[in-house]
Amino acid sequence: MRAIFSSLLAFLRQLFNTGKASAPQEQEQEKVIAPPIFTETKESIKPIIEHTTASVQKVLIVNNQPYTFAAPTTRDVSRVFIHCTASSNPKYDLASVKRDHTNLGYKRDDGVLDVAYHFFITFAGELQLGRKLWSNPDAQKGHNTGTIAICLQGLVVKDFTSAQMETLTALCQQINEAYGGSVTFHGHNEVSNRGCPVFDYRAALKLDSKGNLGV
Ligand SMILES: [Zn+2]
Repeated sequence: MRAIFSSLLAFLRQLFNTGKASAPQEQEQEKVIAPPIFTETKESIKPIIEHTTASVQKVLIVNNQPYTFAAPTTRDVSRVFIHCTASSNPKYDLASVKRDHTNLGYKRDDGVLDVAYHFFITFAGELQLGRKLWSNPDAQKGHNTGTIAICLQGLVVKDFTSAQMETLTALCQQINEAYGGSVTFHGHNEVSNRGCPVFDYRAALKLDSKGNLGV
């Protein structure tokens, strides 16, 4: 009787222990496996979103080096003006514009002759630096103070390229971010009777009626 009882007890112990041992193991496995999967999934979502946002914003390149717009500390900026060149000839480049502007007597804030614009975007979408940002531009008569001037190569609407629009958008996004969204974007024609720029900059930058960037 005792033998039967003890073997039954041993059986029950074994059963109990086995049950007891397997249950926490499963729980432990769940605890160990579940959180990393969850964390990993949560963490992997964030970089994907950031990556997507970053890839939409084209990386700007100047002279084969990554370029990041930095707001000048010497002056306030509230408006950005978009221009186009006076010719659609691909040879009419930044150097040509600078030569013409210098001949026309366009001056920086310190009186030195210089190209009127801060930025130039070629047909290939290449971003080139013109006037230093510490100076106001000399591009919108009577409306130069507190502005940044960007000029796109081209005079005929069909000649402008998507590469140019991508660079323009990326540059304007960076400028807008640098000023915490407080700057507005405009065409030269908004403050002049000149048909400059000739392309639909409002559509390209998805501007609202006040000139806030929509891209
Ligand atoms: Zn203009």
